[in-house]
Amino acid sequence: MTHPSELLSSFLDGELVPEDHAAVAAHLGRCSACTADLDGLARVRDWIRGLPIEEPPVPLVPTLRRPPRWAWAAASAAAAALAVGLVVSPAQPQEVDLNMLAGQHTARVGVVPGLSMARGPVGGP
Ligand SMILES: [Zn+2]
Repeated sequence: MTHPSELLSSFLDGELVPEDHAAVAAHLGRCSACTADLDGLARVRDWIRGLPIEEPPVPLVPTLRRPPRWAWAAASAAAAALAVGLVVSPAQPQEVDLNMLAGQHTARVGVVPGLSMARGPVGGP
């Protein structure tokens, strides 16, 4: 077995399958470099585990705040006003001045080349 550097952390944590654990243990018995690496990993692990657990100075998850009651009241009033407005003043049909439209069409036909006045059906059966 070459130096099992990538397995030392798992060996230390007891996460290797029995065959790998036995192979790493056998290697450690004859390799001082890997034994030194394993000792270093153990010291780092112990140092990290010895660090105090600190509480964050501010909550990392903000507390959910409910909107104030006045916001619900304002939203309800706005919805009611919109509904009343739609019922009280529905859209009024606009009157169309046919004479004005006919005049505009005639004026356009006179100015734009290629346009001609529509004519009614010619002839019939
Ligand atoms: Zn080794």
